[in-house]
Amino acid sequence: MATSAANSYLIVGAGCFGASTARYLKTTYADADVVIVDSAPFPNPVAASHDLNKIIRAEYEDIMYMRLALEALDAWSADPVLRPYFHKTGVVWGVTPTRARELVHGYEDILGQGGSPVELLGVDEARARFPILGQCELQGASNCLWNPHAGWGDAASALQAVIQDAVDHGVRHEVATVAKANLDEENLNASRREVLAAEIL
Ligand SMILES: Cc1cc2nc3c(=O)[nH]c(=O)nc-3n(C[C@H](O)[C@H](O)[C@H](O)COP(=O)(O)OP(=O)(O)OC[C@H]3O[C@@H](n4cnc5c(N)ncnc54)[C@H](O)[C@@H]3O)c2cc1C
Repeated sequence: MATSAANSYLIVGAGCFGASTARYLKTTYADADVVIVDSAPFPNPVAASHDLNKIIRAEYEDIMYMRLALEALDAWSADPVLRPYFHKTGVVWGVTPTRARELVHGYEDILGQGGSPVELLGVDEARARFPILGQCELQGASNCLWNPHAGWGDAASALQAVIQDAVDHGVRHEVATVAKANLDEENLNASRREVLAAEIL
């Protein structure tokens, strides 16, 4: 296991970004002092990451997001902490021809010619194949895209599990509302307490 160049990290916000960063830092740099600060005990219900469900998919027009989302999909399937909360149901999107083309191009840029996991269906074909669509309007859609690799995540439970795993590895979770981050002075004023760190995220 690597040791860190910076030996202390302070992360503001224990949503999915803060929580996964804290967990990554502590499991990668075992000697690092990693503190994550949030305004309530975890998982905080005000976080956007705290939800009954989130769609887990890689259909983004922006190639950078698509690439990141493909990595995230791998993690949802392989990471023992996340895997129990990922339900690989597949997803159907109503799309315009332009969006369908952009998404297939994006996938082929990343995964190579013929590597796109999505299947293009006619709207009636999609309704016949997935009766749950019923009379769902699919406004403006000329086609549907089916991606069998996507699904949904039990978001609040996954958030709880990731923070708990980070804490089990030695991350410190502090309850405080951060008032001011003094990035130059490498410290942070949280509810009239000062928390010091070499790196603030
Ligand atoms: C309605 C809705 C639906 C969505 N659906 C999807 C979806 O289906 N699929 C998908 O991939 N994404 C979806 N998203 C986007 C996704 O939820 C966000 O991208 C993600 O949750 C952002 O995570 P975060 O860690 O940046 O922020 P958050 O989860 O909001 O976490 C921020 C944390 O920072 C804390 N905080 C803020 N200020 C302070 C402070 N001063 N002091 C201490 N703590 C502080 C908050 O308490 C909170 O816990 C959806 C978003 C919304 C709003």
